[in-house]
Amino acid sequence: MSESTNKIPKSMKILAEMSSYEHEQVVFCQDKNTGLKAIIAIHDTTLGPALGGTRMWNYSCEEDALEDVLRLSRGMTYKAAISGLKLGGGKAVIVGDSKKDKSEVLMRKFGQFVDTLAGKYITAEDVGMNTKDMEYVRMETKHVTGIPKSMGGSGDPSPVTAYGVYMGMKACARYCWEKDNLEGKRIVVQGVGNVGEYLVQYLYEEGADIYISDISKEKLDQVQSKYDVTVINNSDVLDFDMDIFAPCALGGVLNTHNIERLKCKIVCGGANNQLEDEVRDSLHLKKRKIVFAPDFLVNSGGLINVYSEINGYDKEKSLNKTKEIYQTTLDILNKSNKEGITSYASAMKIAEERINNS
Ligand code: NAD
Repeated sequence: MSESTNKIPKSMKILAEMSSYEHEQVVFCQDKNTGLKAIIAIHDTTLGPALGGTRMWNYSCEEDALEDVLRLSRGMTYKAAISGLKLGGGKAVIVGDSKKDKSEVLMRKFGQFVDTLAGKYITAEDVGMNTKDMEYVRMETKHVTGIPKSMGGSGDPSPVTAYGVYMGMKACARYCWEKDNLEGKRIVVQGVGNVGEYLVQYLYEEGADIYISDISKEKLDQVQSKYDVTVINNSDVLDFDMDIFAPCALGGVLNTHNIERLKCKIVCGGANNQLEDEVRDSLHLKKRKIVFAPDFLVNSGGLINVYSEINGYDKEKSLNKTKEIYQTTLDILNKSNKEGITSYASAMKIAEERINNS
C-alpha cells in the first residue's frame, strides 16, 4: 500500500454518505498529467438526465469537496422537479484554485470524464467557471450546456438566475408587506459575483437601498463603480439592520447560532444550500418569523435557461418560465402558512410529489 493510500481518512465512508443522501452514482476522476481532481455526483435521474454545473473551489480537504458535491447534486434534483423540468439532479466539483489551477487541458480532461457518462450527467458553469471553460469541455463532449452564444449555446446562466431570485424576492415582499415594490427596502447582497452583481442591477433599477459585501475587493470596487451601493464588512453582514438578506456567495451561511442574530424580515438569495441544515434551520427561521425563500426554487432560473439549450435555445421562453418563480414562491409561502409548515418543507413536498408521481 502506498503512503498516499494510507492517508485516506477512515471517516470518509462514501457509500454510507451516498445512501444517506440517496445518490445513484458518484464518480471520482483524477489525471496525473493535468493535475485534475474532480468528483461527479449523480443524485437522481427519475425525471431525466442529471444536469448541474461544475464548481471549482480550493477545498481544504476531500471530505469537504465530497460533502459539497453530494449536497449540491441533491439540490439539483429538487430544483429541476419544482421547476417542472424533465431533468434529474447532478453536480461536479473540481478541486483547486480557479484563478491559478484552471487551464484548457484541465477542462478538456474533465470533459473527457463527463463524456464517459454518455449523457447521464450534463454539465454547465458554477462557481469558478465561465462560458470559455464550457467551450473547452464542449471540445470533448456534447453533454455540456452554458456554452457561448457564438457556439449556439445560451451563454452565461447568471443573469437569468438573478432574474429568478429577483422574482422570488418580489413575491416574498408581497407576502410580507402586501406590495412587491422593493423601492427603499434595505437589502444586503452577500457576494457580488456573477449572480450577485446582476441581482444588484435589478434592485438598483427598482430603487432599493443596497448594501454589498464580498471577500474580493476587486469585485466590490467593480460593483460600486457602476451602482449606488454601500459596502459593508463581511463580519457585519448578519448583524446588519436590513429588510432583506440576499446570500449570493457560497452555501451554509445560516445556522443555529447566527439565525438568532439576523435582523431582517426576508432571506432570499441565489446561493445554493444557504442553510447548514435545511430542516432545523428553516424551522428556526419560521420561529423567528423570518420568511425564507427556498434557495433551490428561487435560483432555478439558470437551470431553466441551460435546459432550454438542450432543445434549441429560446431566450424569451426561458425568461417567461423563470418569471413563474414569482407565483410559485407566493403559492409556497401561502401554503406553508396555511399548513403550519416551513416554506422549505412545502417546496420539498411539491418537488417530491412530482418525482414520485412520474
Ligand atoms: P461567483 O463565484 O461568480 O460569485 C461568488 C462571489 O461570492 C464571489 O465574488 C466571491 O468573492 C464571493 N464570496 C465568496 N465567499 C464569500 C464570503 N464568505 N462572503 C462574501 N462574499 C463571498 O459565483 P456565482 O456564479 O455568482 O454563484 C453564486 C452562488 O449562486 C453559488 O452558491 C452558486 O452555486 C449559486 N448559483 C449560481 C447560479 C449561476 O447561474 N451562476 C445558478 C444557481 C445557483
